[in-house]
Amino acid sequence: MYEDYLKAINDKFEELNKLSDGVWECAETAFSEFKSVKLLTDFLRKEGFEVTSPAFGIDTAFCASFGNGKPVIGLLGEFDALAGLSQVADRFEKEEYIPGGNGHGCGHNLLGVGTIAAALAVKKYLEDGHEGTIIYFGCPGEEGGSGKAFMAREGAFSQLDLALTWHPGDCNMVAQYTSLANIQILYRFYGKSAHAAGNPEDGRSALDAVELMNVGCNFLREHMPSNCRIHYSIIDTGGFSPNVVQPYASVLYLIRAPKVGDVQKLAERVTKIAEGMAIATETRYEKEIIKSCANVIPNTVLEEELYKSFMDIGKPEFSEEDYEYAAKITAADGSASRPKFDAMLASLGKPENIKEVEGHGYDPLYDFVFPYEKKLHPSMMNGSTDVGDVSWQCPTAQISTCTWAPLSGGHSWQIVSQGKGSIAHKATAYCGKVLANAAIKLYNSPETVEEAKKEYAKRTEGQTYVPIPKNVHPRPIDSLK
Ligand SMILES: [Zn+2]
Ligand SMILES: [Zn+2]
Repeated sequence: MYEDYLKAINDKFEELNKLSDGVWECAETAFSEFKSVKLLTDFLRKEGFEVTSPAFGIDTAFCASFGNGKPVIGLLGEFDALAGLSQVADRFEKEEYIPGGNGHGCGHNLLGVGTIAAALAVKKYLEDGHEGTIIYFGCPGEEGGSGKAFMAREGAFSQLDLALTWHPGDCNMVAQYTSLANIQILYRFYGKSAHAAGNPEDGRSALDAVELMNVGCNFLREHMPSNCRIHYSIIDTGGFSPNVVQPYASVLYLIRAPKVGDVQKLAERVTKIAEGMAIATETRYEKEIIKSCANVIPNTVLEEELYKSFMDIGKPEFSEEDYEYAAKITAADGSASRPKFDAMLASLGKPENIKEVEGHGYDPLYDFVFPYEKKLHPSMMNGSTDVGDVSWQCPTAQISTCTWAPLSGGHSWQIVSQGKGSIAHKATAYCGKVLANAAIKLYNSPETVEEAKKEYAKRTEGQTYVPIPKNVHPRPIDSLK
């Protein structure tokens, strides 16, 4: 373990907490993260990194590098929030902080800072006369935006030998996982307005087309692979007046499949339904690709390195107050995903050091490190992440740390509430240490880096990465109407 270098994280602990609290307060959604980027880039400049902001043709993407030569290791940071999840911090019940505001319901205020913590320790190591380069990537718009997919298209990650990242979570683990590739397409229908009672025969309803398209896609579900997913939301119903035949309506589709190639095929079938319903309703349709992202290519060589790093560092240390705080959150009613989490525990084999708590049957905090197994982790299989696009450019691996109480559920007010707490702060620093320790070991082991690259080459052999088309640009989700 590289204690001397990891000490850099302890030295900056309070500043790092201030930084993640600042991003929590900004709570900006995809591709609108200007204030958050200012906080993060100011900090990185002050710490001596060479910052490029904006970068890769995206207003809120940036990178910060330090060092020279090989290997070049990338650390990925996110900082976008979720709409409608505003919540008062450290509260054990749902209470809006800013009416109608956003909230960090996925912990990305911490995500962006955890990898900065790692970058600080790695920088200390490189300053000691060692060869190698660290690049921190400020990746905007993960939630519904696939920011990293746009960055990958612009070649952001092409110089990397490998990439490491993390996500705040329920427990400390490195898991071999994959994820679903996806594509998001906006379908707009154009009809003809008319008085819905006076001369309905002259009207051609765009809303009818949207509704029929959704029915068509619901029938399609029976005839598509069971590991694919189709979701939609009606972005514009064409107005609020039922006595008007709606001349315009639009629907946003999110289509998922296990591999990038398969998602394209399914998207073509969805588009055929749009086309058919436009004919049926005598309307016209247009389609616009909003974004896409690739499936994650796992890398067991890097995952094993991350697990060894967890073992080097040991469990994170929490106080009695932390455990009490977590128990209160756990007891709160909300969008808890306990059954799913229990299923995950069962699938991994319950670690011996998990304590049964009377009346609960679980610990208030999963502070231990889950054993690493070289098998696909079930919890990530049905979701998507733009880390997938990075994993198609270079060997990539990810950890999670015990950042919140195990009952918190994804994208929930509970996570927003815990985002500035003591557990979250400690989990962020802990993640920084695990990642930095692994990175420093990798700088010292070119043969391990080569092995990781060989595995990456083998896993991607014969497969084609499909980047987002050139004419698609990142855009805030609320600009889709
Ligand atoms: Zn999320
Ligand atoms: Zn997230």
